[in-house]
Amino acid sequence: MRLVVLGGGESGVGTAILGKKKGYEVFVSDFGKIKENYKEVLNHNAIAWEEETHTESLILNADVVMKSPGIPDKSPIVKKLIENGIKVISEIEFAAPFTKAITIGITGSNGKTTTTMLTYHLLKSAGLNVGLGGNIGKSFAWQVADNDFDYYVLELSSFQLDGIINYKPHIAIITNISPDHLDRYDYKYENYIDSKFRITMNQTEEDYLIYDAEDEAIANWLTKNKTKATLIPFSLSPIFTEGAFIKDNKMEVKMMNHEEFSMETESIALEGKHNMKNAMAATSVAKLMQIRNATIRESLSNFQGVEHRLEKVLKIQNVQYINDSKATNVNASFFALDSMTTPTVWIVGGVDKGNDYNELMSLVHEKVKGIICLGVDNKKIIDAFGNVVDVMVEVDNMIDAVRMAQHMAEKGDTVLLSPACASFDLFENYEDRGRQFKQAVYNL
Ligand code: ADP
Repeated sequence: MRLVVLGGGESGVGTAILGKKKGYEVFVSDFGKIKENYKEVLNHNAIAWEEETHTESLILNADVVMKSPGIPDKSPIVKKLIENGIKVISEIEFAAPFTKAITIGITGSNGKTTTTMLTYHLLKSAGLNVGLGGNIGKSFAWQVADNDFDYYVLELSSFQLDGIINYKPHIAIITNISPDHLDRYDYKYENYIDSKFRITMNQTEEDYLIYDAEDEAIANWLTKNKTKATLIPFSLSPIFTEGAFIKDNKMEVKMMNHEEFSMETESIALEGKHNMKNAMAATSVAKLMQIRNATIRESLSNFQGVEHRLEKVLKIQNVQYINDSKATNVNASFFALDSMTTPTVWIVGGVDKGNDYNELMSLVHEKVKGIICLGVDNKKIIDAFGNVVDVMVEVDNMIDAVRMAQHMAEKGDTVLLSPACASFDLFENYEDRGRQFKQAVYNL
């Protein structure tokens, strides 16, 4: 059997290694450059590869092709493969049959990483033999090749889900759905929503789908379509009797045949409404896995969150600096602003993916005293909020942004980097942007 892997990054190399181990003849083809460390791994494992080209004669003879998530369906080589009737799948689809492990698959527009890390933390703290993968850290396929976990918590993007045929998680989570990546979905929001729901398409009566019951796109989909999985909703208000919800400042999780779980929201380390949702989703998994309430409580109270997601950096002269660089769309910044409890100086801007800033208007009115635009083109932000806040300035680097913010902020205020935009105009990626922010704060 010939396995061709398109893309020589983390998931590509992981798949190649697993394929090789399982006896496939493997070929890796990357239209860009492959990183040195990955080349070494491929060479070391005697796996053939090419870069900066796709040689059709070496690709179109595949029995199966694993396409890395970054490669769009529209790319010429993928089109050719599909025309030739060759099966094109994602890493998750390829790797899942090679492990008996139970998988928990987590998708959504925002909150995937946080929910995945928290779920992993809960399971690991309970002593389960669990791996963490998908879009985070080491690829799932690579771990299936090298490790022997009983459970995996997997962060799944819509691109990973587009390439599944038979894969099903035993427990699926859809954190929420809001427009994103529409360039990859013919600019049709329905296509993107359908893609997210592929996570449940192979689930059976024994499986579970945990979802945000307050999310319009999710609720709509569920009224029009069917899933066999047992539905477990979560919401910030007690609108149902089974599932997870907040009532009288307590998070409660109620499920048939499971001891009820209850915990003061104040004792949960993560902050903000959106994080309460993430915590409810992760706790629902923990309950389904029969983890003891005491263990869940302890884990929820000591989980410190994930870098670049509403990350508290420092308090200087009683001004709190928060790094939310991962907020690359309006919805994420909405929750960030919503969770602010003091007057806020907001650093925003970058590459706008078609943002509608109106959604933020009332929060900005209520909480934001000054805006620092940090982007090459800030016109849309200036047009939207120019008349709403007292002070607005434009800067083109992080050091100036943080200095201006310090200047604007008074004792008791918060300085929030939550850009609502991608970072590629001034930074390498959102991590680079977040790190530069933290460094500039440390240097104040
Ligand atoms: P993802 O992996 O889906 O991008 P992250 O956990 O990395 O999600 O969070 C991305 C951004 O979205 C951060 O700015 C974070 O504060 C915000 N966020 C986290 N959870 C949610 C949620 N449930 N709803 C909306 N925004 C969220």
